[in-house]
Amino acid sequence: MKHFKNFINGEWVGTSRTFENRNPADNTLIGHVHEAGQAEVDAAVQAARNALHGPWGRMTVAQRVALLHAVADGINRRFDEFVQAEIADTGKPFGLASHIDIPRGAANFKVFADLIRNVPTESFAMDTPDGGKAINYAVRSPRGVIGVVCPWNLPLLLMTWKVGPALACGNTVVVKPSEETPATATLLGEVMNEAGVPPGVYNVVHGFGPDSAGAFLTAHPQVNGITFTGETRTGEAIMKAAANGVRPVSFELGGKNAGIVFADADFDKAVAGIARSAFENSGQVCLGTERVYVQRPVFERFVAALKAKAEGLKLGRPTEPGVNMGPLVSHEHRDKVLAYYRKAAEAGATVVTGGGVPQMPGALAEGAWVQPTIWTGLPESAAVIREEIFGPCCHIAPFDTEEEVIALANDTPYGLAATVWTGDLGTAHRMGSALEVGICWINAWFLRDLRTAFGGARQSGIGREGGVHSLEFYTELRNVCVRL
Ligand code: NAD
Repeated sequence: MKHFKNFINGEWVGTSRTFENRNPADNTLIGHVHEAGQAEVDAAVQAARNALHGPWGRMTVAQRVALLHAVADGINRRFDEFVQAEIADTGKPFGLASHIDIPRGAANFKVFADLIRNVPTESFAMDTPDGGKAINYAVRSPRGVIGVVCPWNLPLLLMTWKVGPALACGNTVVVKPSEETPATATLLGEVMNEAGVPPGVYNVVHGFGPDSAGAFLTAHPQVNGITFTGETRTGEAIMKAAANGVRPVSFELGGKNAGIVFADADFDKAVAGIARSAFENSGQVCLGTERVYVQRPVFERFVAALKAKAEGLKLGRPTEPGVNMGPLVSHEHRDKVLAYYRKAAEAGATVVTGGGVPQMPGALAEGAWVQPTIWTGLPESAAVIREEIFGPCCHIAPFDTEEEVIALANDTPYGLAATVWTGDLGTAHRMGSALEVGICWINAWFLRDLRTAFGGARQSGIGREGGVHSLEFYTELRNVCVRL
């Protein structure tokens, strides 16, 4: 039986309070997770503080870059272990874990290491009032100890998306992985030690949110900044905690993203793109599409085509060849998603496909499975159109004009992402500026250049991470003014 312990100052720390980690595909027990209390969180933050002033803090950029490359190589060397751990925790299909989660998780260290090696800082020469000259130049220094609070949907990828730039900039981190997915953050501790990362630079504390490791970490006065990915409601709680000590936050939060298909779009590509954005990772992608708007001339045809795609998904054991849809992450999350399936039916939706729990064979019957689901016919006020469900489901509504669909898409408190399908260049660019989101894909979805800004507008986030934008949060920018 596995034990997922806290990783503090380069060592494994068990506690007397453990909770179960179960595989959502068949509900089998993976292992026991050791919940960190206030004492373990204090120790982790202290270790991270000390490490700032130890060998880590004295390293040259080149040495730090070399270490981060070694971490990425270490993940790749143990690639299969990471893939299996991620699959067991999340139930996601092998193809996803092995093509996206783990390779991108490793790449995040290299991308930000290379960035920090090359990034310039600004400099200005100025004339002084007395006829002399001065120069100003900027110096970036690490912010300090960064608290990293992570969700369960892309555990390693989203965690390293924060830990990569944090370490590249010379910070130290205390990571609180989701209670649902403790494995890969724990495994990364082993890789950090193997790579020779000094103790205390990377720490992991396990547990939950309120009254547990998440709350203890975010309230800790010695944490200098908090980066968080998760639900908007949780972000509100963390922001309140961060207010004590006026600590900065970087938030990647929830969404209720629109997919928009114009009649002039390449039909087959649009169907394939929306199918991915609605159903990939069982709909548990923050950037996923739960509201689809299709221009009226192709509406009926589109609904039929997306139905065929949904019904063509192969549900099954994540490691079985050809399987492209896994379970939801947990029974608890399934209860939430099924509650929305019921709400849609009660509100009078036409259930185009799905709407319930699939019959799964053998041991899989114990897993957290739901059917991919499509609705039509609901008013825009319906809960399944307003609220984030985070399941493999979408509502499809017809629209007539560009102005109408812009208003529909923007009518949400969120503003994370949109995917627009059109054959017209003018429409594409107009939509790109009209949709109030952090990222707008045209004839694409989930295509990410890691140098670009990533984040959400409105209630979908605060700040941007990615490329040089990550430096805004992970460093303090100091101006040095020298009178000549
Ligand atoms: P969640 O907010 O429930 O939990 C995220 C993390 O916060 C977990 O580690 C949890 O233990 C911790 N937490 C919970 N309450 C806390 C508290 N009071 N103080 C400190 N920590 C606390 O989110 P989730 O269910 O794990 O993830 C799904 C959500 O994440 C969805 O809303 C999704 O849209 C969002 N998400 C957003 C992005 C993005 O980039 N914008 C990416 C992935 C997921």
